[in-house]
Amino acid sequence: MTSTRIAVIGAGPGGYAAAFFAADRGLDVTLIDPAPNPGGVCLYRGCISSKALLHAASVIAESRHASALGIEFGQPRIDLTKLRGWKDAVVKRLTDGLGQVARQRKVNYLQGTASIVDANTLEVDRLDGTRETVRYDHAILATGSRPARVEGLAPESPCILDSTSALELRDVPRSLLVVGGGYIGLELGTVYATLGSLVTVVEMTSGLLPGADRDLVTPVARRMERLCKAVLVDTRVVRMEEDGSSILVTLDGANVAEPRQSFDKVLMAVGRVPNSTIPGLENTRVTVGPRGFIEVDAQRRTSEPSLFAIGDVVGEPMLAHKASHEARVAVDAAVGGSAVFAPAAIPAVVFTDPELAWCGLTEQQARSEGRQIEVVRFPWAASGRSITLDRTDGVTKLIVDPGSERVLGVGIAGPGAGELIAEGALAIEMGATVRDLKLTIHPHPTLSETVMEAAEVFFGQSTHVYKPRKLPVR
Ligand code: NAD
Repeated sequence: MTSTRIAVIGAGPGGYAAAFFAADRGLDVTLIDPAPNPGGVCLYRGCISSKALLHAASVIAESRHASALGIEFGQPRIDLTKLRGWKDAVVKRLTDGLGQVARQRKVNYLQGTASIVDANTLEVDRLDGTRETVRYDHAILATGSRPARVEGLAPESPCILDSTSALELRDVPRSLLVVGGGYIGLELGTVYATLGSLVTVVEMTSGLLPGADRDLVTPVARRMERLCKAVLVDTRVVRMEEDGSSILVTLDGANVAEPRQSFDKVLMAVGRVPNSTIPGLENTRVTVGPRGFIEVDAQRRTSEPSLFAIGDVVGEPMLAHKASHEARVAVDAAVGGSAVFAPAAIPAVVFTDPELAWCGLTEQQARSEGRQIEVVRFPWAASGRSITLDRTDGVTKLIVDPGSERVLGVGIAGPGAGELIAEGALAIEMGATVRDLKLTIHPHPTLSETVMEAAEVFFGQSTHVYKPRKLPVR
C-alpha cells in the first residue's frame, strides 16, 4: 500500500507535466503508466516520432528542391532500418531523459495500469505481475486518446494502419490510401509520399483540414496535390475488402474517376477518441459527456471533488501543449489555488510542407459569430527571406478588432510557421494591438518580419506591399 498526496494516471505531456509540477511544489506524487518511462502517445507514437520522420522527409524534399538552385544530389537511397532506428533513438533519448528528471524529482513512477477503487483509492496492476494499492488525496486523470475507428469499415488486416502502426515504418508501401485529410493524414501522408509511396488522400468534407483557415490551407493543399497521386475531397470510403496482399477500396465522391481501387496499405486517420473508459470510474461521481470526454470545470475538476482530468480525455483541441497547461491548473487547484484554464490563444500547428499554424480567433469563426473584424494578409512572395529560401508560397494573416486594434487571431502558412506562431500567441495573451506588432522591430531578413509587415498592411504602410489604406492614415 502506497499513500500519496497526488496520483496521476497517464504519463503523457499532461500527466508527466502534472506530476513534475506537483513535485516541484513539494507534493508527494505517484505517476502511473504502462510505459517504461514517461512520454505517453506524444513521445512514443505521436508528436515526436512523427516529427522525426517529417524531418527526414524534409531533408529529402530539400535535396530534391535544390536542383532548382543548380545543385544536384541524385536520387536518395533510403536505409529504412537506419531511419527507423534513428526515429526510435530520438524517442528513447527523450523518454529516458524524462525518466531521469522524474527520479530527480522523486516522483514515484509505477509502471502498470490503474483501476479506480473509489474517490481516494486506486489499484495498479504492475508489469511484474504484482498489484499495488495507492491511497491518494487527489488524482489527476490524464489518460489521453486513441485513434478513432469507423465501425464496420476497415477489416482486421495488417494492411490497415493507424497512426501508431504507420509510425513504426515497417515498410514503404508502393501505394497508400490515407483516409482523412486532417492533421495525421496530411503529416503521415507527407512522410510516406516523400519516401516513395504513391499516396491518395481521401477527405469526406469539401476541403483538407476542415477546422483550419482556408487562406492557410490553400498553399498546403496545392503542395499536397503535387506530392500525392491524388487528393480527393468530398469523398468517402464506402467499402474496404482484403484482396490477397492488398485492400480493395470503394470510393464515393463527386470527382472520383475510378470508384474501385486497390492499395497496398490503408492509413485510417479519421480523428481520435478519448480514453475515458478508465476501469472503476463508475465507482466515482465523475461524469462523461456524449462524445466520451470527461466533464470538468474551469479548474479541470470533475464532478468528484478529489478527481481532476486534463488533456485529450477532457476535450478538444487534442494537443499536447494544451494538456501540459491544464496540468498546472489542476495541480494548483488541488492544493487550493485559484488558477483556471482560460487561454486566449491555443496555438495549433500542422507539420506539413509548408507548415500551417494558427492561434486565437479564425476568420471563419469571427464571421460565423457575426463579429466585426478586419483581416490583413502579408503574402510571402513579398518577403526577402522567403525568396532566398525559394519558398514564396506562404502567407501571414492577422485578424484584428478594428475598434480597439487588438490582435484577435494570427494564422501563418509557410516553412517554419510552427515556430513563428509563438509570437502571435504571446501577442494575443498580452492583449497586444496591431500597432504593437507594427512598432516592434523584427530582425531582417527573417520570416518573422512577415508578422510585422502584416501589421503594417493594416495601416496601409507595409514597406514591401503596396496596399494603400482607404481610411485616413493612422
Ligand atoms: P482530424 O480531426 O485532424 O482529421 C480527421 C479528418 O478525417 C477530418 O478532416 C475528417 O473530416 C476526416 N474524416 C472523418 N471520417 C472520414 C471518412 N470516413 N472518410 C474520409 N474522411 C473522414 O484527426 P486526425 O488527423 O486523426 O488527428 C487526431 C487529432 O490528433 C487531431 O485533432 C489533433 O488534435 C491531434 N494531432 C495533432 C497533431 C499536431 O499538433 N501537429 C498531429 C497529429 C494529430
